[in-house]
Amino acid sequence: MAKKKENKGKKFYISTALPYVNSRPHLGFALEIIQADVLARYHRNLGEEVFFLTGTDENGLKIARAAEEAGVPVEKFAKKNADAFYKLKKLLNLSFDDFIRTTEERHIKAVQKLWKAGKKDIYKKKYRGLYCVGCEQFYKGNELVDGLCPEHRIKPELIEEENYFFKLSEYEKQLRGLIEKDVLKITPSTRKNEILGFLDKGLEDICVSRSAERARNWGIPVPDEPGQKIWCWFDAVVNYISALGYGADDENFAQWWQENDNKLHVIGKGILTFHALYWPAALLSAGLALPNNLFVHGYVTVAGQKMSKSLGNIVDPAGLVRKYGTDAVRYFFLREASPFDDSDFTMEKFEDRYNADLAKGLGNLVARVIALAAKLKIKNEKLKITIENLKIKGEIGSAKENCEKALEEFKFNEALQATWELIGFCDRYIEQEKPWEDAENKSGVINDLLFAIGEIAVLINPFLPETSQKIIRQLQSLESAPLFPRLD
Ligand SMILES: [Zn+2]
Repeated sequence: MAKKKENKGKKFYISTALPYVNSRPHLGFALEIIQADVLARYHRNLGEEVFFLTGTDENGLKIARAAEEAGVPVEKFAKKNADAFYKLKKLLNLSFDDFIRTTEERHIKAVQKLWKAGKKDIYKKKYRGLYCVGCEQFYKGNELVDGLCPEHRIKPELIEEENYFFKLSEYEKQLRGLIEKDVLKITPSTRKNEILGFLDKGLEDICVSRSAERARNWGIPVPDEPGQKIWCWFDAVVNYISALGYGADDENFAQWWQENDNKLHVIGKGILTFHALYWPAALLSAGLALPNNLFVHGYVTVAGQKMSKSLGNIVDPAGLVRKYGTDAVRYFFLREASPFDDSDFTMEKFEDRYNADLAKGLGNLVARVIALAAKLKIKNEKLKITIENLKIKGEIGSAKENCEKALEEFKFNEALQATWELIGFCDRYIEQEKPWEDAENKSGVINDLLFAIGEIAVLINPFLPETSQKIIRQLQSLESAPLFPRLD
């Protein structure tokens, strides 16, 4: 409680990357937004003021092409997929505060304002380069693998145009200093080293516009030059400040961005250079504050293979939620997935986690204790029960400490592991004490367990918010209902 008071007024700003609207959401983005949601809820529980942002990236060439292929007007196509992403809110029980679409007027205005603010670093030149539409970026010959894009394994297109360039090279030294000193902190450190290695090769200026013709006239126009559209990456990252009112609401922007040193972007490993180099350089050029933290997660593979439309192995999170429930899906990604490296999804692994940890582990413990308490009519009405048993008190204390420490380092799996160690301890405690044999004289044991379960409900709250509430209601009513029904 003391901690809550201390944090009052402290701000925490967290964002996800914006997924493209060329297709529907899949598990890869589900992982990222669930991770971000846990952090947002955790910081809210600490008493901080949280702003959690997500949305959709809609101005890319690949959106225009996907719409063309589908034979649908691009605005309509983008809206339909943006709606599907918004629906994740209910499906995955997400607590984001704002959802920005990069086709919104508030975003377009902010992008053009930032362009003008960095004008001194923008110049025009003729250019020839290899562009991957999947990545929406140019590649140098030596970055390709067998002539193919390393992400998409497709041949990039040769582009020859006169476009605008941004003087990224001017910021090389400054960026290196900021990243080395963790002013812009990149977690995990392997990703920090990756970026420093990238810097070692030297930074070249980047192309930040394309002809309206090549863009199929889709995208945000360069100010005062309608024949050129702003490169979608140079536009998309601006969402992090357009949603805060950059250029429209100075006070809100100052509070949440300029004067707030608790700003975190959650991103996937494939878009690190955009977030660690291009975006900070654009901000430096415009004289604006930088984000403080980048948390970089790995990818989700399915049975060892990268999820892709062409492989036909895209897993839709909606199907999993229908069968197993929202919290089971959240739990799998937070507990089974590595926070930093790639993780593999298979139905077998999913069901193993569900059965062992949720149905048997947490679900079984809560059901047993509630049944015993109901028998003796011991309620934990306002979670006011105090605890005498020092051993349990100690176990709860270390679970809390380990959980918090792990979360501060984005180690969601370790935070849950610490909580499940407490669940295991409670299971062993029941087995030792056998309170059902002499319930009348073992009411103290049941008291202890009710207390511990109340603490477990608090610990799992950011991870499994619905289950946490269900447990608290059961503690108050002593009416038991299975949290995670057994699967056949
Ligand atoms: Zn690519």
